[in-house]
Amino acid sequence: MRTTPAVSSCELSDTDLAELSDRFEDASALTIVEWAVATFGDRIAVTASMADSVLVHLVSTIAPGIDVVFADTGYHFPETLSTAAAVRRRYPIELKVVSSVLPLDDLWRTDPDACCARRKTGPINDALLGYDAWLSGLRRDEAHTRATTPIVSRGRQDRIKVYPLARWTDADVAEYVARHDVIVNPLFALGYPSIGCWPCTRTTDTGEHSRAGRWAGLAKTECGLHL
Ligand code: SF4
Repeated sequence: MRTTPAVSSCELSDTDLAELSDRFEDASALTIVEWAVATFGDRIAVTASMADSVLVHLVSTIAPGIDVVFADTGYHFPETLSTAAAVRRRYPIELKVVSSVLPLDDLWRTDPDACCARRKTGPINDALLGYDAWLSGLRRDEAHTRATTPIVSRGRQDRIKVYPLARWTDADVAEYVARHDVIVNPLFALGYPSIGCWPCTRTTDTGEHSRAGRWAGLAKTECGLHL
């Protein structure tokens, strides 16, 4: 059963958050999720990109019924949408699909930052307005820009961001996937180590970084949700 929140996000000072992050450097993802759920109760949600469902599976074992937010940008691969449908069927979560309801256009080509803002980060940030905190599967080894990401920090509108998998490696993810047989987007097996919208995602070659296929050829490396 979900709990009522023990604290609101505004009761945690920046010093508190820094101390929590330091403490969680040696904690398991399970311990971090348990803390987050006990602290924020129904005022916490998960965001999911439907690449793998490791975090969704982990959180659903601790907080069945938790809200999981997924942005349908209108440009997802069919495999990503089918992964979202499978996640909704298999795990005890409330999947909340948010969308900007915009007609398809060429903004992804002319102004990808604006496209991400309208189709992904804007709808997700709007959906998170009703929560004090959110959990995401961001990992430090995904990009050099993510290498120093704290496990717990303050984001937009004072909302607390919790990254239980921040210290995980590809091997950690693979081991968890195999042990729990969690749902994985089939595009992984087709050479996409990082999966976004189809106009902005390509397969990677041997030796390339896992996110090299995201916005390839552009300086852009993030959709903006975690900035
Ligand atoms: S990843 Fe590409 S298509 Fe998707 S929202 Fe961002 S710019 Fe648009």
